[in-house]
Amino acid sequence: MADNQPPAPENSNQTEEEKYLKWEDYFMAVAVLSSKRSKDPKTQVGACIVNQDKRIVGTGYNGMPNGCPDDEMSWLHKDENEVDHKHLYVCHAEMNAIMNKNSADVKGCTMYVTLFPCNECAKIIIQAGLSKIVYLSKKENDTSERIAAERLLQRSGIAYRRLESKRTEIKISLTAKDYGAKQQSENPNVLAPGASQREEESDEVEAEDE
Ligand SMILES: [Zn+2]
Repeated sequence: MADNQPPAPENSNQTEEEKYLKWEDYFMAVAVLSSKRSKDPKTQVGACIVNQDKRIVGTGYNGMPNGCPDDEMSWLHKDENEVDHKHLYVCHAEMNAIMNKNSADVKGCTMYVTLFPCNECAKIIIQAGLSKIVYLSKKENDTSERIAAERLLQRSGIAYRRLESKRTEIKISLTAKDYGAKQQSENPNVLAPGASQREEESDEVEAEDE
């Protein structure tokens, strides 16, 4: 093999179809990754809004409003003082994805979301003009919120369906050698030549986070 060729993938018995992500799997995977940012101890939800040109125009996850640090707010959900219930404070992933949009509007867009929307999010989705919802899971129990959400979406003509995928999981490596590096640097703080700018940027993001 010539030197400039990337190493053979570890799992070389993958079929061509398994090697690349289909659009819908990709968009849902972005929603799932977004959900991993949530500090909700019980339910992490992520959403990804895609326009008709298959461009991502917004992502979001469930979290406390701006200026209300996730670490200082109450995440209680029941059997405690009601005024401390998270439901009174938390912004759901769907709302955040719409508010975070980087386009003028989200009319005609599709929302990929890890959990079927509640009635409050259904209202926001309708008013924002989205056309479709693709979800990964739906709670089994028929809560009033769920039933109301379905009723609202049906009346408003917003199509919704569960993601149909042959994949059951997507593994993501954050190991340099999986992306062509000959070997892992022994000291992860030593930057590869030419990589300094991006590495510094990502450190800043991490520092902000903690
Ligand atoms: Zn909601």
